[in-house]
Amino acid sequence: MTSAALRRWSRPLFLLLASAAPAWPAAAPERADLLVKNAYVVTMNEQRDVHPDGVVVIQGERLVAVGPAALAERYQAERVIDARGGLVLPGFINTHTHASMTVFRGLGDDVPDRLRRFIFPLEKALVDRDLVYWGALHGIIEMIEGGVTTFADMYYFEEEVARAARQAGIRGVLGQTVVNFPAPDAPAPYGGIERAQRFIAEFRGDPLITPAFAPHAPYTVDAARLREIGRLATELNAPVLIHLAEMTDEVATLRREHQRTPVEYLDNLGLLNRRLVAAHCIFVNETDLALLRDREVGVAHALVANIKSAKGVAPALRMHELGLRVGLATDGPMSGNTLDIIGQLGYVAKVHKLDRKDRNVMPAVEVVTMATRGGARALHLEDRIGSLEPGKLADVVILETEATHLIPLYDPYAALVYAAGPRDVRTTIIHGRVVMEDRRLLTVDVAEVRARMRALATRIQTAVARGLP
Ligand SMILES: [Zn+2]
Repeated sequence: MTSAALRRWSRPLFLLLASAAPAWPAAAPERADLLVKNAYVVTMNEQRDVHPDGVVVIQGERLVAVGPAALAERYQAERVIDARGGLVLPGFINTHTHASMTVFRGLGDDVPDRLRRFIFPLEKALVDRDLVYWGALHGIIEMIEGGVTTFADMYYFEEEVARAARQAGIRGVLGQTVVNFPAPDAPAPYGGIERAQRFIAEFRGDPLITPAFAPHAPYTVDAARLREIGRLATELNAPVLIHLAEMTDEVATLRREHQRTPVEYLDNLGLLNRRLVAAHCIFVNETDLALLRDREVGVAHALVANIKSAKGVAPALRMHELGLRVGLATDGPMSGNTLDIIGQLGYVAKVHKLDRKDRNVMPAVEVVTMATRGGARALHLEDRIGSLEPGKLADVVILETEATHLIPLYDPYAALVYAAGPRDVRTTIIHGRVVMEDRRLLTVDVAEVRARMRALATRIQTAVARGLP
């Protein structure tokens, strides 16, 4: 029997045949590349099936079988990983970040009007190719260590982020930034549009990288350019990543000048569609939510960054209830400071409970759904990633559960959301390739990246001490 045939089996039929296995003539085992066994498999499929003693079988870059332990007998695997009773899940999806900004992490953390007074000048003075590449690689290491297998990124020199992602072997939806002022990678305002087109041409068809446009926000890109980006994105069938409805002055200005909410404003410019991924969406009303849902826009919910900046709590619970495409995000490491998604889970559950004054809302299973399937839907990649199901790409994480804070383990969702941390991730598999095993990165020289980061930090510290322009 071919793996394709196995994939086509409906689940009840499969169970029927599995239970009839002894009477079944012994077929030759199928070849597989990698088999993960002795695992508590949390599939995050539509039915939310779990297999407390389960296996995951990988052939090439795809999952070919996911199910109970007996399934292992059907496969002759090149390689077997014993998960030692750990939790096995689909990789986590970080739907919005700026990975290269790891080099600036912890600088000027608790100051007002940080974006214009501090971050933009800092970037203007210091961001170059080298900083973007090494900063991104460092951020990517942190994501892989925390079980993130796909990230969406917006930055300058985005091709360097793509090179870093390729090097590390992580999946990315990567957007070249467009802004209305001279940027580190484009001396003329809006030079990012041209750069984005070249970037998209260079990385189109890459197995891991989906190149995208990243107009920074409605307040840093004018209406004509937003319209143009929308048109180009349709032509090139490329995603568009943007910050949306994040700032109170953004809302006030668009109201005053266009009599529209930020969501209505983008809709009017033709940008609300299934190519758009909008980060934050804090200031949205019921009409906006209906628009975001009907236009199939992805929403990146960066709760921890939003509460740290005291901006507000986006109505992500309402979005999730309405069936919007909402995933979780860290935002850049200057905003949220960490890049793993596991560290977001507890906050998402607890802040939304507090916000509604109701401990029943945002249960752990829904939070894990947002971090996996939800993230895949937000990035419009749900046919490829987001759950452990035959036919999907093999993005898999193994979490160690032999840890004081995870014993006993009654409910895998509660354990993940309320007790686990990113350091519990033991092994990360992306596109069928083991990129971290027993917490050791296999694709990147971590010591070299750390040395580069320290050298960059010295340069940055000197520049800050001298005073930014
Ligand atoms: Zn951001």
